[in-house]
Amino acid sequence: MNSNKLIFALIIEILVVSLLLVLSFHLSKSTGNSWQIFSLGLLLYLFWHFYHLFQLVDWLRSKKCSHLIITIGVWREICNQLIKLQQTSRNRQKKLIKFLDNYRAFFNVIPDSVVILNQDNEIEWFNKNALLFLGLKKKKSIGKKITKILSDPALEDLLTDGHEEDQIELHSPIDKNRIYSIRIKPYIKGSRLLLARDISRLYWIDKMRADFIANVSHELRTPLTVISGYLETFEERFAQDETFLSPIQTMQKQSHRMENLIQDLLILSKLEADTDKQISSILLPIATIIETIINDARVLNVGKQHQIDIELDNKLMIAGNETELRSVFTNLISNAIRYTPEKGLIKIRWYKKNNKAYFSVKDNGEGIEAQHLQRLTERFYRIDKGRSRSEGGTGLGLSIVKHIMNHHQAVLEIESKTGKGSQFTCCFTLPK
Ligand code: ADP
Repeated sequence: MNSNKLIFALIIEILVVSLLLVLSFHLSKSTGNSWQIFSLGLLLYLFWHFYHLFQLVDWLRSKKCSHLIITIGVWREICNQLIKLQQTSRNRQKKLIKFLDNYRAFFNVIPDSVVILNQDNEIEWFNKNALLFLGLKKKKSIGKKITKILSDPALEDLLTDGHEEDQIELHSPIDKNRIYSIRIKPYIKGSRLLLARDISRLYWIDKMRADFIANVSHELRTPLTVISGYLETFEERFAQDETFLSPIQTMQKQSHRMENLIQDLLILSKLEADTDKQISSILLPIATIIETIINDARVLNVGKQHQIDIELDNKLMIAGNETELRSVFTNLISNAIRYTPEKGLIKIRWYKKNNKAYFSVKDNGEGIEAQHLQRLTERFYRIDKGRSRSEGGTGLGLSIVKHIMNHHQAVLEIESKTGKGSQFTCCFTLPK
């Protein structure tokens, strides 16, 4: 409160009281009833205060800013201060409403669907796009659990165990052709934002690409089998004819390469199509599987005479798709054999550590430069194309491994140092 105004109000108040006292004094002198007149003066003064108190209560209840109490003294100052407070709070309220409108307009303009969820995953608010594409109803959906409207086990997992960077793909409950990428982000005071982005175009393009590759590979397989069959017959027929034998054998080698390539492409296509397929819960004797693969690999290894060290935990078993896991172990072991020079050392391990199962293949080959590590699991990414081809590689091995690891919710780690060698490790989380 402005101190000058307060002093002025107090002076007025003192003047009023003094005036009352002077009046009572004069009246009591002229009438002779001093204490009655004095009490009457005090009563009037009290009435004056009650009157203003009543006016103030009335004004507070009416809540009208324009309804100003005209009075003097301390009461006037109290009223002025209350009106000021009321105006400040109204201005603040207006600002808040404007801010809220802006924020709603923003959420309605962005192309994503946005849903605000409370700690129990119940819907608190959502934008227009969520209304249009996620099947939420204007008032009915508020307070309902999001999983009741978008019922998908992947969403439940994302809400309970998901990390900020995790995302899942979901079909819109309104239009099954629309695909959304869903992310959960922390919001204010324990609430969370569900952000849904329409990725239908990308999804269908990717599906077309996958279907195209699968169909082409499939279509190429039959003519290639016929060609290989004829080449085998020709090889026998021209076994003694040096002029024909060499080109026939080159053709055979190339058709084998193509067969391997088509086989890997078909494996990848199948893996892409099976991403949602449940993994069997039957425990697999991984050590025995690895042993048979190593025995087959030793045949490949004869020429290079590698030293292969094995350390396998026979008791350690995990649930998984046997064909897929065989493919992982075969790819990593054959890569080590392929890219490790003669008489090199290859160490293969299957072991348990901190509730995780690890399969690792370590070699002391030439290693991989750091800039390639990030891209090794891309399709057809090869450091030395010529070398990979001459060694019989298709450029798809690690891509297949990565897909299978994802399918098993496992991780592939690659460590390498040029001149020292590489280590490829598959890390499987064991159930608690
Ligand atoms: P490829 O059929 O060419 O072997 P992969 O996807 O299996 O295809 O591997 C991709 C590339 O990674 C290979 O071309 C090779 O350059 C590199 N690579 C894979 N394993 C090793 C390894 N153990 N040592 C060195 N380089 C490797």
